[in-house]
Amino acid sequence: MSPTTAPDVTRSDQPARTGSVVEFAGVAKRYGTHLALTEFDLTLQAGELVALLGPSGSGKTTALRVLAGLERTDHGRILINGADVSGLATSRRDMGMVFQSYSLFPHLSAGENVEFGLRMRRVPPIERRERAAAALALVGLDEHYGRFAHQLSGGQQQRVALARALVTRPRVLLLDEPLSALDAKVRVQLREEIRRIQTELGITTLFVTHDQDEALAVADRVAVMRDGRIEQVGTPQELYTRPASSFIADFVGLSNRLPGLVRHGFAEVHGVILPLLDPSQADGPVRVFVRPEDLSLAGVAADGLPGTVLLSSFLGSLRRTSVRLDAGDTVVVQHEVRFTPQPGERTVVRFAGVPVPVEPS
Ligand code: ADP
Ligand code: MG
Repeated sequence: MSPTTAPDVTRSDQPARTGSVVEFAGVAKRYGTHLALTEFDLTLQAGELVALLGPSGSGKTTALRVLAGLERTDHGRILINGADVSGLATSRRDMGMVFQSYSLFPHLSAGENVEFGLRMRRVPPIERRERAAAALALVGLDEHYGRFAHQLSGGQQQRVALARALVTRPRVLLLDEPLSALDAKVRVQLREEIRRIQTELGITTLFVTHDQDEALAVADRVAVMRDGRIEQVGTPQELYTRPASSFIADFVGLSNRLPGLVRHGFAEVHGVILPLLDPSQADGPVRVFVRPEDLSLAGVAADGLPGTVLLSSFLGSLRRTSVRLDAGDTVVVQHEVRFTPQPGERTVVRFAGVPVPVEPS
């Protein structure tokens, strides 16, 4: 056996253990009288990265802990490749986990931290060392084998935690807000790295986050949670363009909410006629959701809704401007940075006319 630092933690002499199908089937979990999960159904396809997105307290961590076997379900089943694992202990479920807080053993080096799970499995020392080195190489830390946690940055510690989770060749990777404690730039770098590694290994991954940018950026599909259940699951683009409820429209991206009226398959907002995302929507008063990028500003002579600029914020590659419409609502308009509207200035808001989601009001 030749020593290797090649980033290959799934060795060809081992049966492939990645790409498992994971299924939550009607799972419920209660803490005292509080239902942390209820009628929770979700299937992760083999090799898929699903982001579990939701506000704090919506049950994301509970779902992950139930899958890992750290909590027992009160109802329902957890299936891996069709087999019910609900009765199995955590150690028998074969999952790699990374948590938000740095969870490295402080008295062990990075390499020893990564080796830890292998030692528990009685892997011989030479193979242990080789596999730990390969896992550290996978996360770009091959030079840091001997470093201790206090000699590593937060981002590096989370990379070590990821290597430690992957080195046992788990069937499923579970990440619970793994980037929340990191600063913005490292957060973006590391999420891209996680995505690259996850794709390379083809490992089925559940990525818990409360950060919608993060979820949209890394996931094949996003499952949005609310009060212990999944409100909508879909590709990032589906969630963004076809939000199933006002909760989703608000939580995923930014939306203006405007009062409207549906008649004959169209929505009317302050006299502007917009196509409906769902043309079968019943007639009647509604709330209309319009993305800031589907609005634009024009000169006072243009057709559209007149208003007064309240505030304009420079965001680097774009600008967002709030306008108080004469008709009474305030909207946020996203536009190019070369337009610099001034507070108090008169303007006209125009609609791009893309189909809009609505909700009866
Ligand atoms: P999230 O990860 O989305 O923030 P959690 O899954 O941690 O949400 O929690 C969901 C709900 O269950 C919350 O209301 C939380 O207070 C409650 N909860 C979580 N763990 C426990 C526990 N061990 N005992 C009692 N309540 C809990
Ligand atoms: Mg949590």
